[in-house]
Amino acid sequence: MNASQLAAARATLETARRRLADDLSAPPETPSQMTYGSQAAAASEVFAQQRDLALRDKSGKGLELVDAALGRLDAGTFGNCLRCGVEIPEERLEVLPWAAFCVRCQQLEKDGR
Ligand SMILES: [Zn+2]
Repeated sequence: MNASQLAAARATLETARRRLADDLSAPPETPSQMTYGSQAAAASEVFAQQRDLALRDKSGKGLELVDAALGRLDAGTFGNCLRCGVEIPEERLEVLPWAAFCVRCQQLEKDGR
């Protein structure tokens, strides 16, 4: 990647990092006063809470990925697959600058191999 592509990747990562950090620092949704007699409302409260927890978990992982990518930018190893060392295609990094693996290794990682 050339310098301007790296700068663009860094900008994307820093924006993503801020967004994820905001997500994580926002207070969790707590159930409001239960209104008796409304099962549907109670169910949607539970749903909202679960969704919030799921997002929080995802944000935590996302933040780790983004931080790791920023670390690789600083170390000068950005853009190489952590598993096989191949250069990750620029198109992939433009969309997913926090990608740590090439497509092939990503699939292997996902399969737990
Ligand atoms: Zn790879």
